[in-house]
Amino acid sequence: MRARRVVAVVAVAAATVGILAGGFFGWGVLAEQRADAAYEVLDARVESLDDARGALEARTRSAQGEADRVRTVVASGAFAADTDPAAAPLREALVSLDLALTAAGTHQADEPAADEPAEDGGARAVEEPPVVIPWQVMDEAAEVEAQAYRANVAANELLTAAETTAGAEEALGEAEVTYFAAVAARGRAEIETNALASRKSQVDLGYLLAQAEDPAQSAAWHGGFLDSVQAGVQTLRDSQGLEEAELADPALETRREIEAYARSLSAGVELDFVWAPEVSGLGEGWLSGTAETYSSDGGWSIISLNYSVEQAWAEGDENARAIVAHEVGHTQFIRESCEPLFTGPVFSSDHEMWATAWSIGLGYDLPGSGIEAYGRPSDEQIATAAGCR
Ligand SMILES: [Zn+2]
Repeated sequence: MRARRVVAVVAVAAATVGILAGGFFGWGVLAEQRADAAYEVLDARVESLDDARGALEARTRSAQGEADRVRTVVASGAFAADTDPAAAPLREALVSLDLALTAAGTHQADEPAADEPAEDGGARAVEEPPVVIPWQVMDEAAEVEAQAYRANVAANELLTAAETTAGAEEALGEAEVTYFAAVAARGRAEIETNALASRKSQVDLGYLLAQAEDPAQSAAWHGGFLDSVQAGVQTLRDSQGLEEAELADPALETRREIEAYARSLSAGVELDFVWAPEVSGLGEGWLSGTAETYSSDGGWSIISLNYSVEQAWAEGDENARAIVAHEVGHTQFIRESCEPLFTGPVFSSDHEMWATAWSIGLGYDLPGSGIEAYGRPSDEQIATAAGCR
């Protein structure tokens, strides 16, 4: 019986040892599994953190560019003088974006160095000990889990910062569109109010306003651009002032008569006038004029005339009328109905023959129509130019 008992005790002991060993082994496996899972999660978190960092970097780069551009607008003299209700929201939206960018910068700096968990790419770099000590592996797993958690928190912070920045950037973009639309609307109203201003001042400002109205061109909305709009408005007003003063000046009555006559001939081509002592280097003793014509913007032209034209007109010299008709003739080739006559075989786009023939067609068979300067056009040319009225 004793012998059996010994066997039994040994068996119990062996079983106990067996159970202990089994428990030890099982714990080690669990620890290993937990550590493996933790490393897997850490890998994914580190990847998400990298993505979040990339997203925030891209966002802050674009937002910083926009903030820097709008800053030049807000710093411009034109903006400082602007009392439009759309101005303050733009300034405030810029402040909001600056705050978001500062916060984003703080997060980027604060964020746990990615190389901490990522140094080994999250891969398990711990050297496998020859004997697995379960509690050590458990500790390691817990540490990796904590790293994964921190990476997750950091990634969320970066994503939130990116969202906040994106929101602030969008709000700034909207405030900018609203502001420049208001600038454009005021500019358009200025053009309508200053109807006497030169066509050139209206056209130049119109191009700037088209840019201000078009959000697709927002990259050009700098402080310098806003200043140029303001300068364009000033040029327009100055021109209006000049025209009004001239209209009111009885000494300039003859010019008004000449300009009105030219406009009566121009068939809708808008005319600006420049009066000068000399035109093309010709002053006293010469009747001289030029026409600089643009087919764009509805068709318009700058006609320059020297003082001698004014004088001759006042004296009743028909040559003055003839040269004015010649200059208006120059502007007519841009008209749809006249262009083929001008470019066709009869004129082959000869500007001086065309303008001279056009003037003669109005009855000015005189030296001043251009005959003296360029020779007399053929009868066929005169007849052809007369087809353009
Ligand atoms: Zn000419």
